[in-house]
Amino acid sequence: MYCGQRFIVCSSCSLLHRAAGVRMSDKEELRIRKIAEGTVIDHIPAGYALAVLRILGITGREGTEVSVAMNVSSSKLGRKDIVKIERKELRPQELDKIALVAPRATINIIKGFTVHEKQRVKLPQSIVNVVRCANPACVSNSREPIQPTFHVRSDDPLLLECHYCHRVMEKDDVIKQF
Ligand code: ZN
Repeated sequence: MYCGQRFIVCSSCSLLHRAAGVRMSDKEELRIRKIAEGTVIDHIPAGYALAVLRILGITGREGTEVSVAMNVSSSKLGRKDIVKIERKELRPQELDKIALVAPRATINIIKGFTVHEKQRVKLPQSIVNVVRCANPACVSNSREPIQPTFHVRSDDPLLLECHYCHRVMEKDDVIKQF
C-alpha cells in the first residue's frame, strides 16, 4: 500500500530522504522549471546546447541558474536543444556567436515569467575578431596586428572563408575554439 510519503534520492549519499514540501506533480518535476527573468535560447540543433554555453563563456560557476534540455522533440527541427539562463540578457555580439552553431535559434527574453520579447539570431556577412583562422601560416595568425576576418559563405551548414588566406572553416573548426 502507498503510504503517501514522498522520497528523493540524495545526490551526496544516495540514500532515500523524505522530500519536504514537494507539491509539484511528477510530470512537472521532469520539465525544465520556468524562469522569472532571463533568456531562453530555443531551437538549438540537437547536441549543441553545450557548445552554445561554451560560446557564451558560461561555466555554471557564475551562480545563476542554467537549465539545459537536450534532444527534445521539435516540429521544426525533429530534435532540438534548449538552454535557459536566469538573470541574463545577451549582447548583440553574443547573438552573432550563437548563430555560428545554432543558425535557427530563437531567443526569448523572459520578464515576470512571460516572454517579453522574441528575437532570432542572424549571422552578419562578416565575422571579425571572434574566431581564428585554422591555417597556422595565415597572416592573421602572425604577430601582425590584424583582426581575423571571415566572410560567411553559408550559415547552415556553416562555411566561413578567411579574408586573408581563403581557408574555409566549418562548424567543428569553430566550436573547437571555444
Ligand atoms: Zn586565414
